[in-house]
Amino acid sequence: MKRYVGLVLLLLAGSCGCSDPAGPITQEKTTGGKASETEEVLRVVATFSVLGDWLREIGGDAVEVTTLVGPGSDAHTYEPTPADGAAVAESSVVFEVGLGFESWLESFVESSHPSVARVVVTRKLKGRVLDESVEHQELDPHVWHDPALVISMVQEIETALISKMPHRADEFRLRASNYVTRLKELDQSIKDLVALIPEDRRRLVTTHDTFGYFAERYGFRVSSILGSVSSEVSDPSAAELAVLIDEIRRERVAAIFTENILSPELTQQVAAEAGTRVVTGLYTDALGPPGSSGDTYLGMMESNISLIAEALR
Ligand SMILES: [Zn+2]
Repeated sequence: MKRYVGLVLLLLAGSCGCSDPAGPITQEKTTGGKASETEEVLRVVATFSVLGDWLREIGGDAVEVTTLVGPGSDAHTYEPTPADGAAVAESSVVFEVGLGFESWLESFVESSHPSVARVVVTRKLKGRVLDESVEHQELDPHVWHDPALVISMVQEIETALISKMPHRADEFRLRASNYVTRLKELDQSIKDLVALIPEDRRRLVTTHDTFGYFAERYGFRVSSILGSVSSEVSDPSAAELAVLIDEIRRERVAAIFTENILSPELTQQVAAEAGTRVVTGLYTDALGPPGSSGDTYLGMMESNISLIAEALR
């Protein structure tokens, strides 16, 4: 009987030309002295860390996930690297948020793997329109801050994985269903903590407008220093800042928050001028580094709501 030590990955070199490099790779593994079993691993790419976490949750060991915009990094201003290009070239599916979040993705995929399957996880969601009055209506991409909307995105992931690996459908269904249960529990625990914050203090001031969906679901009013859903904007004018500072003073906003993806200087300056305090540590558009409280989506959301409730109640 053949025996393998640990896990042997048979990787097809991208340049061999003898097989589709984007096809599922074959992984042979044995445990102890048992006969080897051959199974496929689906290589997928997630545009940013939160999506990568959901893919691992639903895909388990059937998927090998490469995340392009990693923990602590800003997807709005991202510039793909040559290593990202290689990952996309070797992948079978690219998962993205859509709603204008990954503005750099289109031309990048076009140049690295134009025929790759693409899944826009917000496909069935109606994005928030930022300003109904303008002709070119911009959508708010920060859907992950509402766990109820995450359920729809998790189901898109489940459907896509089942279509690629139908023989593992039961496993994907079970993992998705368990995760949906945890999303519902998360939603309830956020509601419980929000209930501790007096209504007139449910006010979030952050660097950029990332909490629109969160605010809609849990009843907060939001303002941001950059005044934009993208962090890819220049600093606000002195006059714009003066209006915001005045508002923070007048409404006696208890705290304003810095974000893990953006430098805190401007927020600290506004807080100092408005006479309020700065709370650091909010995870907005990215997970935290491994080992931090925000290194998974569920952890990130729990950490955020405890920080918010602690600062505003
Ligand atoms: Zn953002």
